[in-house]
Amino acid sequence: MQNTQLREILSEAKDLIAKAASRSETDEARIKFLGKKGKLTEILRSMGALGPDERKALGKRANDARAEIEAMLARKFEEVKAAEHALRFSAETLDVTEPGAEIRLGAKHPITRTIEDISRIFMRMGYSVTEGPEVETVFNNFDALNAAPNHPSREFTDTFYVTKDTLLRTQTSPVQVRTLLSQAPPIKVISPGRCFRVDTADATHSPMFHQVEGLLVDEGVSMADLKGTLDAFAKQMFGSDVKTRFRPHFFPFTEPSAEMDMSCFKCGGRGCRVCKGGGWIEVLGCGMVHPNVLRVGGVDTERYTGFAFGMGVERLAMLRHGIDDIRLFYENDMRFIEQFG
Ligand SMILES: [Zn+2]
Repeated sequence: MQNTQLREILSEAKDLIAKAASRSETDEARIKFLGKKGKLTEILRSMGALGPDERKALGKRANDARAEIEAMLARKFEEVKAAEHALRFSAETLDVTEPGAEIRLGAKHPITRTIEDISRIFMRMGYSVTEGPEVETVFNNFDALNAAPNHPSREFTDTFYVTKDTLLRTQTSPVQVRTLLSQAPPIKVISPGRCFRVDTADATHSPMFHQVEGLLVDEGVSMADLKGTLDAFAKQMFGSDVKTRFRPHFFPFTEPSAEMDMSCFKCGGRGCRVCKGGGWIEVLGCGMVHPNVLRVGGVDTERYTGFAFGMGVERLAMLRHGIDDIRLFYENDMRFIEQFG
């Protein structure tokens, strides 16, 4: 009786295990035959009712059957595991021979590059870089910089006002004020950034442009220090043989004030298209910081003096690269921008 049952169980197990297509189906088959309530387990449990010889004979066959089923399960388990792996691998396969999607690298904008070059030169001279907000107070942009109350640049026809007391800064000079108010001398900073003025765009004007401002305040700073610093800058930026000269000028926040020219780096001063035949190129504005400005920042003007300078980034970039229209910087034409990469 049990012998027949055993054969049936064995053949049923063979079929079911053969059909199992996953690890969980294989496990279900194991439970069905070998589990606590499994078919084979039931047979072994029912042997108690048999005589000793019968029990021994059936016990051996039942154990053989168990071993056979276990072996089938083990083989099946390995088989489905391998199949599942293969399936996952093929699903996750990456064909490394397939041509990749081209990643187009950008290029740094010539204005960014010029700001970086200027900053690097001054950083080598011990300056740190600081930045200020583009929306400034009227106080920081004009009053604290000693601009006369009726100065024409304050007009709304020249300046973009945000409110009565705030505006889009017309220069990076307000960063001088912020620095003087927040730091005690010695001060040695440059400040690059965007500026805004009401202007119609043409080849040399843009309502948005960039400046780099510089400020140095310490004991015993003189005009000679200013000239030496800016001469060193011009030589590192445009070549070691350029010469510089300083012409008196007027800015409300410096006294005395000057404009610095350099000998034309293209023609060496003989006269060419870049220097418009004159041999000299105007580079930047500068001067000794006006005592009124230092006082706004709480600096002891008996003890400290300082110089400041400001330069137009677009102008320097145009000079260096022979660009004749400022608007090219803002058109985002990659063919233009990539030339400077
Ligand atoms: Zn020239």
